[in-house]
Amino acid sequence: MAVTVLAIVFLLGMLATIVFGFKYIMRPGSAPAESAVEKCSLCRKTFNKTDLILRQVGDYKLVYFCASCIESLNAEAKAKYN
Ligand SMILES: [Zn+2]
Repeated sequence: MAVTVLAIVFLLGMLATIVFGFKYIMRPGSAPAESAVEKCSLCRKTFNKTDLILRQVGDYKLVYFCASCIESLNAEAKAKYN
């Protein structure tokens, strides 16, 4: 009888842990808000993400370029290939 009671208490404890853990994980706003600003990968100045050109390198690395860096890259490329 004592074993059955202990088993029930143990199962209830497990259930409570699962429910509590699930609520903790699913709590809205627990994830960090995504920042609206990002640094240019070349000049390291901070811009709004909407003003930056985004490229993915490999599987996960995201690279941001600002307009003036792209302009200078474009000028450099033109000088090289003309
Ligand atoms: Zn830049």
